[in-house]
Amino acid sequence: MENKKVKDVVCAMEALCPTAYAEDFDNVGLLVGLPQMDVTGILVTHDCTEDVVKEAISRGCNMIVAFHPIIFSGLKKITGSTYVERAVMCAIRHDIAIYACHTSLDNDFMGVNEGMCRALGLLDKKILLPQPKTMYKLTTYVPVDYLEKVRNAIFEAGGGHIGDYDQCSCNLHAEGTFCALDGAEPFVGKKGEFHTEKEVMMSCVVPSHVKNDVVKALLGSHPYEEPAYDVVLLDNANLRIGMGMTGFLPSEMEEMDFLHLLKERFGANGIRYSALRGKKIHKVAVLGGSGSFATRAAIRSGADAFVSADFKYHDFFGAENRILIADIGHFESERFTKNILSDYLCKKFTNFAVCLSNIDTNPINYLQ
Ligand SMILES: [Zn+2]
Repeated sequence: MENKKVKDVVCAMEALCPTAYAEDFDNVGLLVGLPQMDVTGILVTHDCTEDVVKEAISRGCNMIVAFHPIIFSGLKKITGSTYVERAVMCAIRHDIAIYACHTSLDNDFMGVNEGMCRALGLLDKKILLPQPKTMYKLTTYVPVDYLEKVRNAIFEAGGGHIGDYDQCSCNLHAEGTFCALDGAEPFVGKKGEFHTEKEVMMSCVVPSHVKNDVVKALLGSHPYEEPAYDVVLLDNANLRIGMGMTGFLPSEMEEMDFLHLLKERFGANGIRYSALRGKKIHKVAVLGGSGSFATRAAIRSGADAFVSADFKYHDFFGAENRILIADIGHFESERFTKNILSDYLCKKFTNFAVCLSNIDTNPINYLQ
């Protein structure tokens, strides 16, 4: 069996959660290691500490796929004086590659928040804060007999995908005109003569992470020397990409019962919550990790409860008696992320082992 390289894992991760959808403040993708290196095994972890790097070495894995990026802000020196520098030094010294997905998986419809929804059995899931400026409209003009070829190439490259629908396009019959000048090699018509051609104006949406591939596919399949096309950024929200998610409990619950359900499902031993409202919980908003910035969006969505983490004292006032805020802990809210990553990578790669780290990297302890 052909050896798989670090770059193959990077490609697979890109297919799961494109780095194009990570937040601007983030630092995702391959952080340490050579793309050409053969992979001997992958260790999946929540955080990549020095202990996790050592665990990878002892378990024969030379690649770590982490949720949080160990290098978050820039490193200006690497002397081993911080836990970040020590983890990076240890990885480089032992030829261990490190990949981090973080907000690209947060923003994915099948990512962190979906994991939280699944743990609570939520139904009718929707993205809480759909990401703007992540979709384009592509329009091109194709001679009638070549429409199928060009359109298929565009679809295969990832164009025309809307929610649960694929191969979506609009096709209008039109008449194109051109006059080939000196130096041209026209596919139809004669040089120096005005030409009209029956064409189809074909348009479809293109998610931003495949925009370059789709344009390449268009140019590679179109018969004209100079195909005309427009790529326009859409203002439409992308309903499949964004922070947080909402969904409905299968049946409504009393507030305290709901808080106990959170404790049980997320192993959360330090839940902090805002004032009870005396109302049942049916619609729930979730956001894995630090989510206080989305409280108002959660209220606007009509959710009865907002489950997230890292709320400060004043953030709890933001509930305004319009929602129940439940801070279940940062690590706890993201605890299913490791499994999402390892389940996916296990299915993708059979050449080597994909292991889950045995180290509990949660830096926070709770007094029992
Ligand atoms: Zn986090």
